[in-house]
Amino acid sequence: MPAKRPNILFIMTDDHAAHAMSCYGSRINRTPNLDRIAEGGVRFDNCFCTNSICEPSRAAILTGTYNHINGVTTIGAHIDNTQENVAKILQRNGYQTALIGKWHLGQGPAHWPTGFDHYNILQGQGPYFDPEMVRDGEKVQYRGYTTDLITDLSLEWLENRDPERPFLLMYHHKAPHRPWEPDEKHAHLYDGIDIPEPATFHDDYATRAEAAHVAAMTVEHHMNAVDLKIRPVEGFKPTEGLPVPEDIGNYSLTTRDGETVTFQSKAELKSWKYQRYIKDYLRCVAAVDDNVGRVLDWLDAQGLADDTIVIYTSDQGFFLGDHGWYDKRFMYEESLRMPFVMRYPREIPAGTVTGDMMLNVDFAPTWLDYAGIDIPGYMQGRSFRPNLRGETPADWRQGMYYRYWMHRSHHNVYAHYGIRTHRHKLIYYYAEACGQPNTIDVPGKQEWELFDLEKDPRELNNVYRDPAYAAIARELKDELHRLQAEVQDQPCAEVD
Ligand code: CA
Repeated sequence: MPAKRPNILFIMTDDHAAHAMSCYGSRINRTPNLDRIAEGGVRFDNCFCTNSICEPSRAAILTGTYNHINGVTTIGAHIDNTQENVAKILQRNGYQTALIGKWHLGQGPAHWPTGFDHYNILQGQGPYFDPEMVRDGEKVQYRGYTTDLITDLSLEWLENRDPERPFLLMYHHKAPHRPWEPDEKHAHLYDGIDIPEPATFHDDYATRAEAAHVAAMTVEHHMNAVDLKIRPVEGFKPTEGLPVPEDIGNYSLTTRDGETVTFQSKAELKSWKYQRYIKDYLRCVAAVDDNVGRVLDWLDAQGLADDTIVIYTSDQGFFLGDHGWYDKRFMYEESLRMPFVMRYPREIPAGTVTGDMMLNVDFAPTWLDYAGIDIPGYMQGRSFRPNLRGETPADWRQGMYYRYWMHRSHHNVYAHYGIRTHRHKLIYYYAEACGQPNTIDVPGKQEWELFDLEKDPRELNNVYRDPAYAAIARELKDELHRLQAEVQDQPCAEVD
């Protein structure tokens, strides 16, 4: 064991896409404090989740296993907390461990966090204001903005820890998850500014699978009165999507502040909804950025920055109007990619960028590696510590396996699996519930999509039926099935 084992500060938000961070070249916002982590360490350009949805990604991070192994395939398949996890291992090896903020892996004695000396967590999704939290099994009511509170509670735990022992702190925000409610401080950020629309905002899904056409997560048709911060519209529940009316010329909406906006065209209404959505999303991100800055300042003031691995990530990516959507779930880039920046001055040179392919199942093995603890055989991910020393193993992965299980539930996204390599992506929509919890047992159309990410980085052109890609499609299928077997998952009966 090394003389001085690093502290691990793992900062995770919910639904923060990499393309809303300035260190990833955001066109729409600035995140100076998150950028501090990347500038002082490394930015990962190909960090992917193995299932782009909240609970499953959290389970993969904690256990180092894929969801068919850890059992958390969908939202609703809560974690069995008797299984091994990285916090338990660090705790047994002398680390102080805490988890503060969002947990979202189930509630009650069978699902509360285990492996933590201390936890203080939101219940379920948790609200943006005045959360009732569960502190080591007891409910406690708090007042204030949740992003600030989670930071206050994290700093309080850090202040009171034993300075002689290393720590693992999982500091998890609810933000910027739906329904994107900013605090007073950021409520007017971006007022009077038009945020640029993404290049694929008007995607018509031509060439693509049925799954893309039927997904109920468009900015245009599926945002509701709560999302848009408007007064309820007659005939619709506040949480029901507001479709575009036929007679657009007479259509008006009234904001919660009492401002009435009238629309002359469908395009105008769609753009307005995007601005309402994206500004609130980015305001929530701005509050996260400020709070992460407070914690980084605290580490500096305590002289702990050199001995602390600081990671910032989110449980998956998110569509920021890309393909006309909000939400995640799909294996498409904006949803698949996790932002991941990491700083550890003792070992990682400032300003490093890596394009090696990393997965959420790799996080736990990597922490153990840095802590000088053997990585248990049950974990399916690999430590990326060698990669960050410039020693990427010769057999490092060139492709990754993905599976979204939650067929049709919430946003009518079909269940699918697939493979992404550095150049291509092959997706198979098996489009069945497969008996999984929180799915809708109505099959959809089974079909494939293939994208050439070099020629078509925005994934607009499905080339699966293009004869020029027939050989590539066959190779990718073989590799997909090899990866499936490697992680002990199984293919469905596939159509051609
Ligand atoms: Ca999430």
